[in-house]
Amino acid sequence: MKTVAAILVETGRPLAIEDLEIPKLAPGQVLVEMAYSGVCHTQLLECNGYRGADPFLPHCLGHEGSGTVLEVGAGVRKVKVGQRVILSWIKGTGADVPGTVYEWNGHKVNAGGVTTFSQYTVVSENRLTILPDTIGLSDGAFLGCAVPTGVGAVLNTATLRPGNSLAVFGVGGVGSFAVAGACLSGAYPIVAIDLRKERLKTAERIGATHCIDATEHNSLEEIHKIFPRGVDVAIECSGQTTVMEMALSAVRSQGGIAVIVGNAKHGRNMKINPKELNSGKQLRGTWGGDSIPDRDFERYARLIASRSLTFDWLQDEPYSLLNVNQAISDLEQGKTLRPLLKMVA
Ligand SMILES: [Zn+2]
Repeated sequence: MKTVAAILVETGRPLAIEDLEIPKLAPGQVLVEMAYSGVCHTQLLECNGYRGADPFLPHCLGHEGSGTVLEVGAGVRKVKVGQRVILSWIKGTGADVPGTVYEWNGHKVNAGGVTTFSQYTVVSENRLTILPDTIGLSDGAFLGCAVPTGVGAVLNTATLRPGNSLAVFGVGGVGSFAVAGACLSGAYPIVAIDLRKERLKTAERIGATHCIDATEHNSLEEIHKIFPRGVDVAIECSGQTTVMEMALSAVRSQGGIAVIVGNAKHGRNMKINPKELNSGKQLRGTWGGDSIPDRDFERYARLIASRSLTFDWLQDEPYSLLNVNQAISDLEQGKTLRPLLKMVA
């Protein structure tokens, strides 16, 4: 059996769309017919070689999606044939099977425990979660990374409470979900900071109460005009190390929490003045918004079903898998917040 897949053959080059031979399932693996895949900033870094040397080339990619189970390998108990599933890079319960190797015209193509830029994909059991009936497959795709990371950074990592003040630095896909997470948990005020006016407009539609255009203003000075003592929580989603430093400066002494969500280019470092930490500020990292798929994905799905968490602001039409390079380029140029690939026409 074959699948069409987008593969990274060489960094800095467009992805190749090729037919790959699907290997026989190993114990603990699941074959999924993909419906949708999101395109995340992480893939942008991978494609451009910004994550450092890539020893796995050529390889498949993509780490959030939705689809239907077609076949299960020996020992798989978590999902059954015919069930709709969420595919995520965040590990849950179930077998943890290392990457799959596909065959492509006599060459080998690597894939991790989960990849999603393909018509069919072989996935490790622990990267799958059943998609609740209340959620459509297109919304379900974002439950693989954007929702758990953005909403989870606010609810789990920062443990935001109603009435906390918050600033989100960088309101792209994940940052927008962080704003949405802040709204549903009763934060006020909610400040969005970005270099792009369209993104700030979207953040305002989602529920940001203040917007700072970082091309026109010094973000930190503006935040301090609104909150002289600093915000309770800052969520950094830009991936720029200078902005990460700013996020720590933006939170209040004695308990303010800065969460670093963005991935910086390989080799970049952030500078920290220890006095910031001595003053009682907290700098936190996050692993997928500290979301635990088996605990949290259903919870996020309920927030979507109750319309506490909506995607109305993600208006773009899905791209076909064949147009994946256009989707990646549009993401890089900021023309779209979070591209969605549709696998079947
Ligand atoms: Zn991601």
